[in-house]
Amino acid sequence: MPHCETFLQALRRRGYRITPQREMIVRAIAHSGRHMTAEEVLEEIREQTRSINLATVYRTLDLLVEEGLASRADLGGGRVVYATARHGPHVHLVCRHCGRVIDADIASFDPLFKEIEARYGFTCHPQHFALYGLCEDCRAREERGEGSADPD
Ligand SMILES: [Zn+2]
Ligand SMILES: [Zn+2]
Repeated sequence: MPHCETFLQALRRRGYRITPQREMIVRAIAHSGRHMTAEEVLEEIREQTRSINLATVYRTLDLLVEEGLASRADLGGGRVVYATARHGPHVHLVCRHCGRVIDADIASFDPLFKEIEARYGFTCHPQHFALYGLCEDCRAREERGEGSADPD
């Protein structure tokens, strides 16, 4: 079964009404192999219909997140991206200076999650998150004293 059909079926089974707009939104994000912002989803769907707005796109994407079919991550600078559950748990390292995004292996964080569990009795179930810092190039530039790391 195609990926999008699985999602639509899951939503139907949980009692959600699948309007044509909702279906288009689910298809757009499910068929895209990448992350998408709500604006990008809207742009893609606008080619098929004009009777859709950004609020509907956000509501449907947030519904997918609530139902565990997708996850969102804030990459800073107003970039909130959505990825389907097919992407699995993952982490983005976002450079505050140049905006570069490095995809990191979530397994690198296992020692930290174990430490949190030991100290706070809290088990982390990370899905999708971003950490902000400086990339290698920007850090080197900063160390050479070329410009500040402050994007403003
Ligand atoms: Zn950078
Ligand atoms: Zn992601």
